[in-house]
Amino acid sequence: MTKNERAGLELQLIEMRKRLLHEVDSTEEALRDDVVKPGQISSLPTHAADADVEGLDSQVAISLNEESLLEQVEGAIERLQTGTYGVCQQCGHTIGMERLQAVPYAAHCIECARDEHLPIKKPVTGEPRRRW
Ligand SMILES: [Zn+2]
Repeated sequence: MTKNERAGLELQLIEMRKRLLHEVDSTEEALRDDVVKPGQISSLPTHAADADVEGLDSQVAISLNEESLLEQVEGAIERLQTGTYGVCQQCGHTIGMERLQAVPYAAHCIECARDEHLPIKKPVTGEPRRRW
């Protein structure tokens, strides 16, 4: 990985973190508006008659996804700082540059990610850049 490539990935990760922090914040705010007791999101009672339940469930799902993505992004930034970025956390092999460019927060090489069925989207050549 060249210095420039590394700097580019670091920038992407920092931008992702900024965006995710903002989105996690606003999702949690939206949840607080709907749910009386914050912090009990995982044990939400389900009322079949409540028309909002479906929308609320998907909001919780979005929030959980973003929080786990945020954790992965923060882990990657930490690895950049400790010098272990780009090294598979599972087998210790170098993670391919193509994979890092597609998934800058990848903590596992493509083989280990496949083995563990981690929810990492396989990069497709020629696919338009994702919004981050
Ligand atoms: Zn690996």
